[in-house]
Amino acid sequence: MRFPTRQERFSTLFPDEPKFRWKQVQQALFQPGKKSWLECLTLPKPMREMLQQELPWISVEQKALQTNPAEDTYKAVLSAADGLNFETVLMQNAKGQWTLCVSSQIGCAMGCTFCATGAMGLKRSLTSDEIVDQYRFWIAFLRECGKGQERISNVVFMGMGEPLANYENVKATINTWLQHTDIGPVHITVSTVGILWQMEKLLTDPDWPPVRIAVSLHSANQKRRESIVPSTVPNFINLLADWCRAYTQTLGNRRHHITFEYTLIAGVNDTEELARELAAFAKRAGDCKINVIPLNRVPGKSFTPSEEGSMSRFKEIVASYGIDITQRRSMGQDIAAACGQLALEVSGGGEG
Ligand code: SF4
Repeated sequence: MRFPTRQERFSTLFPDEPKFRWKQVQQALFQPGKKSWLECLTLPKPMREMLQQELPWISVEQKALQTNPAEDTYKAVLSAADGLNFETVLMQNAKGQWTLCVSSQIGCAMGCTFCATGAMGLKRSLTSDEIVDQYRFWIAFLRECGKGQERISNVVFMGMGEPLANYENVKATINTWLQHTDIGPVHITVSTVGILWQMEKLLTDPDWPPVRIAVSLHSANQKRRESIVPSTVPNFINLLADWCRAYTQTLGNRRHHITFEYTLIAGVNDTEELARELAAFAKRAGDCKINVIPLNRVPGKSFTPSEEGSMSRFKEIVASYGIDITQRRSMGQDIAAACGQLALEVSGGGEG
C-alpha cells in the first residue's frame, strides 16, 4: 500500500496555490522551535488553520522513550499513522555532538542471522515523511530537554531496515535534509547490506546525493557470508569488489571512500584465515576503510561477541596488509539500541 506524501496531501488541500507555497511549507517544518502549523506565520492565516485541521504537523508520534544511565543514548519507539511502530536512536559522542540513527523500514526482509530486526521480517518501508520526521522529532526533543547542543551533526542509516530496499524514499529524505538542515552530505552515511542492483543504480543517478556509503560485509568469504547474511547473491564478493572500483572511479574521492562494516562474531568470522581473506578483498576493492564492530547480543540468538584477544589479532592481521581498520565504539546496548538490536522491545528504566 502506498501512502500519500505530505506534499501530495498539501496539493490536494490547496490545488491552486503557486509552487513557492510548498517551499514555504517545507521551510516552516524545519524552523527551530515551531510546534504547530498555527505558529508558521510565513503562511497565510486561512492556510495555517486548514493545515492545522487536516495535516499532522509531524507524521510520527512518540510511544516510548528510553535512555541509558550515561544519558548519551536515547531510543524512541515511534508510531506511524497506520499504528505500526518503529525505533529511532540518538547518540552523543565525547565531543557532545549528536548522531541520529534512522530507520528506513519497519522490520527488515534481509534476515541477517545475528540481527533482531531481521527476525521481525519486513512490515513495510517507511515513507520519506516518516524518515524526515525522525530528524524533526529528535531536534524537538533536544530543544525541549535542554540536552546541550540542539544540533544533530551526523545521520546514519543504521536503524531498522535496508535503506537501499527503500531507495526512492531514502533519496528524497536525504535531499530534503540537505536542502533544509545544516547537515552536509559527508555527515550522512547510508549503510547497506549490499543490494547490488540498487548500488549500480546510484552510480548513475543524477539525483543521488553525495553521501557516504557503508557496506555491511561481515565476511569476505562467499560461503561464510551467505551463512551470516542469507540475502547474499551468488558471486557477491567478486561483484562487490568490481562495484567498489566503479564507485571509486565515478563518485569516490578523499571524503567518499567506501566503509566496510564487519561485526565480529566469536568462532564465526573472527579467525586469522578470514582476516587474511578480508585484507585480500579490501586490496581488490580499492579505496576503502574497515570498521569492526563487536557483536551486540540479541535475546534468543546464540551468537557471542569475539574475545578481546581475537579482535585485536584480527585487526592486527588486516592492518599488516596496509588496510585502514578501526573499531567502532558501540553505544546503547543497555537499552537494546545498538546495531542489530532494534526490535521494538522496550525494557524498563527509560523516560517518557
Ligand atoms: S543487519 Fe540490517 S540488513 Fe541485516 S537484517 Fe538487520 S536491519 Fe536488516
